[in-house]
Amino acid sequence: MKFNNLGLLPSLLKAINEKGYDKPSPIQEKAIPVILRGKDVLASAQTGTGKTAGFTLPMLQLLTKSSNSQNRKIKALILTPTRELAAQIYENVKEYSAHIDLISTVIFGGVNQNPQVSKIKRGVDILIATPGRLLDLENQRALSLSNVEILVLDEADRMLDMGFQRDINKIMNLLPKKRQNLLFSATFSKEIKSLAKGILNDPVLIETSKENTTVEAIIQYVYKVDKNQKSNLIIQLIKEENWTQALVFTRTKHGANNLCKKMIKANISAAAIHGNKSQGARTKALAGFKNGVVKILVATDIAARGLDIPLLPHVVNFELPNISEDYVHRIGRTGRAGAKGEAISLVCNDEKQYLRDIEKLIGLNIPSKTKIGFEPNKNPSSEPIPNKQKRSDFSRKKGGDRNRNQRRR
Ligand code: AMP
Repeated sequence: MKFNNLGLLPSLLKAINEKGYDKPSPIQEKAIPVILRGKDVLASAQTGTGKTAGFTLPMLQLLTKSSNSQNRKIKALILTPTRELAAQIYENVKEYSAHIDLISTVIFGGVNQNPQVSKIKRGVDILIATPGRLLDLENQRALSLSNVEILVLDEADRMLDMGFQRDINKIMNLLPKKRQNLLFSATFSKEIKSLAKGILNDPVLIETSKENTTVEAIIQYVYKVDKNQKSNLIIQLIKEENWTQALVFTRTKHGANNLCKKMIKANISAAAIHGNKSQGARTKALAGFKNGVVKILVATDIAARGLDIPLLPHVVNFELPNISEDYVHRIGRTGRAGAKGEAISLVCNDEKQYLRDIEKLIGLNIPSKTKIGFEPNKNPSSEPIPNKQKRSDFSRKKGGDRNRNQRRR
């Protein structure tokens, strides 16, 4: 299949050509013709699959028919969970619309609203927004959603995880009843199905490759290590193996800050990205990482979600996520666009159950290693372990699943 066969306008094909894309990705191949026919879409697609172009290209084409350059109104709304994702989609929309007379802008919280408001006042056709700032500006009557023809809900599962359900409901009430709806989600949970039912009208279901097929393309392994030795181990790995860049996931914001400080102390250029950081700090960290000045980006799941960082050689789970699906999202940051990558997890005794759950989800046993000098329980004095049973022993027979659910959440 070629882009030429998808029924796209020459001006869009030109932009695609300038981006250097050879052929459409599976999600693009499936979604573009359906969206061009004006259908609602429910698509399961992760970041890295090319889903942004999958919804943006046909959206632009449909908008060229109805936009009016003398009197621009918001005709398309793209809702995304995070500021970084919003900024990234905006960049993509600008590139794909380079040869089309459509104006787009992005709004998100954490920064001064005035430049965003002035841009909207000058007239935009496409608005990319996070829910909070969108509702804020609508309340102030700084924008109107009454002319929206196309709604995109991107990373809908993450929006629900982040507690945006009520905001989404409010936004739906501000939109015209008659519109085209496109919902993208990495997973089709019960909650997503119920959200989709309330929003979509006779949607075409589009599923791309299962998550675990993505996982198979990535080299994964586990280092068994005591909790208090994890920072030293990762610092040693980065230095010994001369890593160029890595994205490192921690479970908490506090953990991200701590690890980042330790890295900087060890002369490794690092930055942390999480919800407590100001927008300025987050943008700076991400830009530094993208241009290579920052070598290690330490992130929490929500902050890293959807970030497009091409050709990342290493992803590290400093702590395993307690929700197995997050493991798949995290390691999807490596080995993207056909490049091989390594996903390394530092796993301590407390996390053995998480590891089993992840292995069950992905249907693989992740090979494990220990590093000399970092074997679990090598330093019992620095990590007090109250009773013998608690000692880590990964070679011990697996079992004891009884309290698993209580422990998971
Ligand atoms: P996304 O999943 O939309 O975040 O896209 C992931 C990455 O794939 C981005 O860097 C896109 O520029 C790139 N991309 C999107 N479509 C294609 C394509 N058809 N061929 C090659 N790269 C693509």
